[in-house]
Order: sequence, then C-alpha cells, then structure tokens
Amino acid sequence: MDTKAFKRNLQHSENYNRKGFGHQAEVATQLQSEYQSNLIQEMRDRNYVLKRGDVTIRLAQAFGFCWGVERAVAMAYETRHHFPTERIWITNEIIHNPSVNQRMQEMEVDFIPVDANKKDFSVVATGDVVILPAFGASVQEMQILHDKGCKIVDTTCPWVSKVWNTVEKHKKVDYTSIIHGKYKHEETVATSSFAGKYLIVLNLPEAEYVANYILNGGNREEFLAKFAKACSAGFDPDQDLQRVGIANQTTMLKGETEQIGKLFERTMMQKYGPTELNQHFQSFNTICDATQERQDAMLDLVQQNLDLMVVIGGFNSSNTTQLQQIAFERGIPSYHIDVVERIKSGNSIEHRQLKGELVITENWLPAGEIVVGITSGASTPDKVVEDVIEKIFALKATVATV
Ligand code: SF4
Repeated sequence: MDTKAFKRNLQHSENYNRKGFGHQAEVATQLQSEYQSNLIQEMRDRNYVLKRGDVTIRLAQAFGFCWGVERAVAMAYETRHHFPTERIWITNEIIHNPSVNQRMQEMEVDFIPVDANKKDFSVVATGDVVILPAFGASVQEMQILHDKGCKIVDTTCPWVSKVWNTVEKHKKVDYTSIIHGKYKHEETVATSSFAGKYLIVLNLPEAEYVANYILNGGNREEFLAKFAKACSAGFDPDQDLQRVGIANQTTMLKGETEQIGKLFERTMMQKYGPTELNQHFQSFNTICDATQERQDAMLDLVQQNLDLMVVIGGFNSSNTTQLQQIAFERGIPSYHIDVVERIKSGNSIEHRQLKGELVITENWLPAGEIVVGITSGASTPDKVVEDVIEKIFALKATVATV
C-alpha cells in the first residue's frame, strides 16, 4: 500500500479530525478538577521538595503528563462533548494510565474488543466515532475504520508522526528502518506499519548483534529466528542491511537510541568507508523532548541522597519503565506502582519489577527520617502523584508510632 498517499487522503476526508472541535474551554475545567493537584503545584513552587514529619519528598523537576498526552486526553473529552449521543470507540488505551482509561469507560468511550490477540473491528458501525490514541494506530487499522465510514478523531502525538515521516523517508530511498523499540508496543507496531523494510532492536546488545552481522556475516537462521517477530515480511539480513536508517519508539532511553545510531554509523563507515557513508546510513533526531526531559530530571534526582524511589506510571508504559531502570542502575531501592492502592496499610507495597513481575515487599518504608524520590511517567496525572505522596505521609506517621 502507498501509506503516504493513504494518509494524505485520509487527512483530507471530512470524516477525519486531528485538531479538536473547539470545546477547549468547556473541557479545561473538567480536566483541571479530575487530574490536577494543588499539592503538586505547591511543590513545584517550592523547589519540588516537601517535608512532613520524618519524610522528605523530593520530586523530579520534570515528571508526569507530557503535552502530547494532555492534548490526547483533552481531545477525547472534547470528542465526547461534540458527539454526546454517538457511539465512541478507542482503538487502544488512550494513554497508559489506568485511572485515565477508567474515566474513558465511565464516559462511555469503549475499547475495541480484543479476541485471541486480534482486535475485533466488527463491533464498529458506519457513523461511529473512533479515537486513535496518543501513540497512534497502524495504517491497516486506519484503513479499516476509513472503509467503514467511521468518524476518526486522531490524537496521535506529533512527535510520533515525526517518526512515521522518518520511516517514510527511509522507504522512499529503499533504506531499511532500524527501529529502536519494543516490537509489541502499539507505537512501534504503528511505526513499522508505515515503514518499508524494517528491523526492530530492543537494546544495545541486539543492535551490536546486528552490527556484527553487517560487518562479519553470521548465522542467517539464527538471525532470522532472533528477530522473527521484529522484522518486515521476507526480511533478508544479507540483502536488507546494506542501507539503513535509524528510527525509534519515542519513549525509549534517549542515551541508548543515540548509542544505537552511532553504532550503525560507525559500522557503515567501517564497512563502506567515510566517502560512501551517506549512501548507506541515515539518521534524523526523533527523540521526543518530553521523554528526554523526564529522563534528564530523573538522572538529576538520583544524584540526591535518596533512601528510596517511587516511580508512578502504567505497568505497560514504556517511558515509566525507562525511569525505573535509571533508579535500578543506581542501586536505589525503587518501587514502580501504577495506582495508589498498590501501597497497603501495614507498610507493604505491591510493585512491578523491571522484567514485569509483580511482587510484594514488606517494610518498604524504613524507620526514622527518610528521603523519598518521586517521579511519574508521561501518562500519569498529578492527582495520582498527590495521592501517593499523601499515602506515604500517612503511612509513615503510623509506622513511626508503632
Ligand atoms: S511522551 Fe513524547 S511522543 Fe509520547 S505522547 Fe508525550 S510528547 Fe508525545
């Protein structure tokens, strides 16, 4: 399919909207009361520190809702205002946050059901309204919805669209897109749907494996088995790695994306020589500012003398996991939770480990004076951060007196 032409046509269709409906003022008050927090605002004004009793809370200087997420959530609210009686669907979680997704359901914005790992679009009828989430949707999904005559409200973040444009550019000159991301993540699924040939690498070790194959060849079967779910159909590592461009899932660790870009630049330089580099390698900066700011703020925060960290965000939120990884690498006891209810009375906490396992840790709040670092992923409302802080204060007051 000519994905670029399809997208252009879609954007000119009267059934397509990506700018909202002019109800910003009506939804602003609602969003403010549901997601914002006076306590967090106060902390922002006080240099991101708050002390109560034995507990000092240090907030990262950039955390929580990014503008792309705020924009997507506001557009979803606007959509409900604009279409008060129509059936409204969303192709996926609007963002990776349980409380926001719960609100969507309360507003009768329904998720497309998933059956055996496949979305069932048969539930959607002509004239229904369908919202595409902040991390986008695949071109195939957009086509199904367009063919059905749905009204599409596209909240895809412009940073994500920028990556799609990048892989379109690779495709135009017949370069393979090497995408730094998670092959199952909705954003990467969407990005790869716009790419021609592509290969998805999760991290630097996988990228090094590919770079080594480019330079020295290797076991073709092993390569294909390793990337079976992470490459375009018919991918041939002996043919399709001669000209490569770099793209990324916007929420990966910025430093790692840069290292991967540099690795492939060096690899192509070594293989083809500096004068031929431009014929074999392309790179554009597609790292989202918000992700970068949150990671930089986390790197600053972990320099402080912290007893522990709480990282708040959806368990399937990639950028939250990256923040957790920074704490983990510094050896700071760190607890990734998605909702305040994970913190139990009785000083225990249920939290997600880096590899995805949910565990319960007892006595996680030490006795005496403590400093707790807190950050949250780009899909977490301030209100949730406030609830966590208040719970820690309350719990510590109880634990201290036992
Ligand atoms: S994290 Fe970046 S790319 Fe993702 S929604 Fe926010 S601003 Fe957009």
